[in-house]
Amino acid sequence: MEKADFVLKGSAIFTGAGDKPISGCVLIKGNRILKIVPLDRMTGYIDEKTTVINCGDHLIMPGFNDSHMHISLGSVQNDPDFCIQMMNCKSEEECVQMVKSFADSHPDNPWIYGTGWYAEVWDNPHTPSKESLDALNLDRPVCLNSFDLHSVWCNSIALEKIGIKKDTPNPQGGIYGHDEQGELNGILYEPPATKAMMDEVLNVPTLKQSLLKCLKHFRELGITSVADVYPSGLTNDNIPEIFDELEQSGELTTRITSFPSLTDIAGAKELKRKYHTNKHRVAGLKQVLDGVVEAHTAFLSKEYDNDPGKFGDTSLTQDELNKYVLAAQKEGFPVKIHTIGDQASTMALNAYEYAKSKIGKLTLHNSLEHIDMIRQDDIDRLKSLNVMCAVQPQHCIGDYMSGGYLPCIGKERLSHTWPYREILDAGSHLAFGSDFPAVYSVNPIWTIYAAVTRCEPNEGKPDGGYFREHAITLTEALQAHTKWSAYAESFENELGTLEPGKLADVIVLDRNLFDIDPQKIRFAKVNLTFSDGKLVYKRGK
Ligand SMILES: [Zn+2]
Repeated sequence: MEKADFVLKGSAIFTGAGDKPISGCVLIKGNRILKIVPLDRMTGYIDEKTTVINCGDHLIMPGFNDSHMHISLGSVQNDPDFCIQMMNCKSEEECVQMVKSFADSHPDNPWIYGTGWYAEVWDNPHTPSKESLDALNLDRPVCLNSFDLHSVWCNSIALEKIGIKKDTPNPQGGIYGHDEQGELNGILYEPPATKAMMDEVLNVPTLKQSLLKCLKHFRELGITSVADVYPSGLTNDNIPEIFDELEQSGELTTRITSFPSLTDIAGAKELKRKYHTNKHRVAGLKQVLDGVVEAHTAFLSKEYDNDPGKFGDTSLTQDELNKYVLAAQKEGFPVKIHTIGDQASTMALNAYEYAKSKIGKLTLHNSLEHIDMIRQDDIDRLKSLNVMCAVQPQHCIGDYMSGGYLPCIGKERLSHTWPYREILDAGSHLAFGSDFPAVYSVNPIWTIYAAVTRCEPNEGKPDGGYFREHAITLTEALQAHTKWSAYAESFENELGTLEPGKLADVIVLDRNLFDIDPQKIRFAKVNLTFSDGKLVYKRGK
């Protein structure tokens, strides 16, 4: 009889194939799951080389799969050796002091980059200026993103480096800030004005080091596979090569499935030809169709409450989208379409419907991404078009909390946002993800908690949750972050459930989520993470 390398025995194995945990043993051999057997059948699979781990009543389950993130940008923004976090600063001086100590301790960084400054919450709210940064007499450019990414605060060297002069005309939609004397003040407003500088800053020579730190964090959180979706957020042109290097050196402990741009199918085909292992692969294409609600760029069927006559906009026309989606289907690429406004969701479904009318049946695992707003008549179209929904429950809670949606769309429309329950009831599927780094926390446990309780995971508020009628069950939430997110990456034959023959990405939590008050889910931790059959993380070790 074949012997196992690892035996995980316990009373709570959530395979994902069934609804409830079962007792037994998960047998791991090489990088695959050998079998799941009852406790009394374990001995035959054990020899002197087998490691037996008694997990008691702690939940044994498939590793978390995050179906939507931007891992490169997330890695560098969360790397304290690349990015200064200024969220908690209370004054211009405090920000400047952080810049100084960062510059002193990071002499080789070509740019000093920071993010999160928020002048309105400073003790003395005012617009900062380049003078305070210039007074540090640094030899390098400084670029500091505001918390909302709408402005950049920089020093004179940064302005010179990008070639912005006192009399440079403003770009369309952006402003180069000036002081009362007409001199540049070091503040650039809106992306058209900040883009050239951000493109330089976000071409990150130390990306690989940042990714290694991020992968360590993911092992601690039990994230064993992710969909890395377009855009990367960086201007590096070596991202796939870095993933490849990490794979070759055995350091890629989270599997990466890439979704490059829908509008470059030829480029995606080339990438797919080059990268197609179960550690690093290309599965489909991604398109950002509309924007976000707070900026009034999400595309709505009815005007914004606080901006009459404005409906938002899309990056492609219906005809263009139809053409791309059809071409992708013909090439065998499923498509992920970012839709936040309800009219964008309608357009995306129209495009799938168009493709269906041309080729008969849609068999690829196409999805809508985010879908903050979708009307019931469109929810009813999901199943017949075979379209699933990749959503980020922490976004929904975060946006309720911030209060940013209410003035834009009003209470009635707000009450129908993020209708996860309705999507499942209509026979479609949910795949969970984080949208890291544009998220509260990348922790999947918090995502599960938010979906089940509709509360924010940090403090567990509000009592009863936001629009609790859209909540889903724990089983549905766990499957959305394992089974269905693997499905959304067309990876379900290899991943997502604990079944014989599948890749051994397995985690063990520090409790059984099925046995506790749902309000306590947010406190759960990962004790063990197995990636590709190897024990890559042990809590406290
Ligand atoms: Zn995203």
